[in-house]
Amino acid sequence: MKQKFFLVLLTVVLFVSVGTGLAQENDPTLTLRLNRNFGYGGIGKIQGRFTLEASGPENLSRVEFFIDEKLMGIVEQPPFEYRFHTDDYSPGMHVFSVIGHTSNGLVLQSNQISKVLLSPEDTWAETQQIVVPLLAVVGVLTLVGLGAPLLFKRKKIFQIGKYGPAGGAVCPGCGLPYPRHVLSPNMLVGKLEHCPHCRKWSIVPRSSAANLEEAESRYQLEEPQIPLTSPPEEELKRMLEESRFED
Ligand SMILES: [Zn+2]
Repeated sequence: MKQKFFLVLLTVVLFVSVGTGLAQENDPTLTLRLNRNFGYGGIGKIQGRFTLEASGPENLSRVEFFIDEKLMGIVEQPPFEYRFHTDDYSPGMHVFSVIGHTSNGLVLQSNQISKVLLSPEDTWAETQQIVVPLLAVVGVLTLVGLGAPLLFKRKKIFQIGKYGPAGGAVCPGCGLPYPRHVLSPNMLVGKLEHCPHCRKWSIVPRSSAANLEEAESRYQLEEPQIPLTSPPEEELKRMLEESRFED
């Protein structure tokens, strides 16, 4: 008995909810949209020329456009659009809506659109808030772009054992080691590099540590690290000897 009662209740609940759902779908609706023609449209904030566009049932015959509770205009034939400029209204928060009338006497209320109308000065401030950081980012990127080649040029002085993230290579021309540049073009088998020792261009793969070590010892043999300060006496002797030829 109790179960049967619940079943009936469930059926009624289902029927009612489906019924109201159908009723809502059959109800003619009036939709309001806001389109920008020219101007600024940030999140919830607008400035410039805009068009309010109402769409409703086929037999829509008259649409009244409202800003807050004030009538902006009436359109009595499609397209049901109303153009306006934000400067014609006071800055601040406003609610747009429309009321539609159908030929068979139905009155429809649309959705509401809330927007903050900005004055041209506000828009300039808002735009600056977006543009200034953007310009800063562009500026930094430009500086990085200009600075990067300079940094690489400075790094060209070869230092034994320092090859950087792209690894070192052994020059096929002179057999000396040098670091590969991260930004050098990749040519499948290796990177296109310029040897700092013999100035030969070649496509070089990353060399193994053993190969690099071997090349390093070759480099040290070929270009012995000349001590910058030789003993003073020897230096003096050498200078004297050299000056003798000048006389
Ligand atoms: Zn070389």
